[in-house]
Amino acid sequence: MARKYRVKCPRCGNVQNLLAPAACAKCGEQLSLEQGGLLGIYRMGNFVGSAAGFGIYINEQPYGQIGNRESLYLPLPYGEYKLHIVCGMNRKCNDPVIKLSPEDPFVCVKVHINMGFIQNKLVIERADPSTMPQD
Ligand SMILES: [Zn+2]
Repeated sequence: MARKYRVKCPRCGNVQNLLAPAACAKCGEQLSLEQGGLLGIYRMGNFVGSAAGFGIYINEQPYGQIGNRESLYLPLPYGEYKLHIVCGMNRKCNDPVIKLSPEDPFVCVKVHINMGFIQNKLVIERADPSTMPQD
């Protein structure tokens, strides 16, 4: 099955989904899916806010949204990335730092909501790539 890649154009910042390398829909920049590292994000099914997309932020940069039970793959150069995911007004998240390196180039995480008494919290946990669902 094809992976759905979520790519941010380095030239114009447009965020788009790609199944294969392509030109940016906005500015025509050629977008590569080979950046060295790869971050997989899977949003686990839930009822809270299931209709709304969760907003994805990498190092404070918006990377679009992820739908319920959706999986996305973000090609990123090696480095450290703070991953932050929000759901509507719910901005509490455990903000893990993802490290992509030649020794550990492919990191997968699963996101779910922890129901809290005062506030729900988004929890991001590292997952084995083999447990990621195929679209
Ligand atoms: Zn562009």
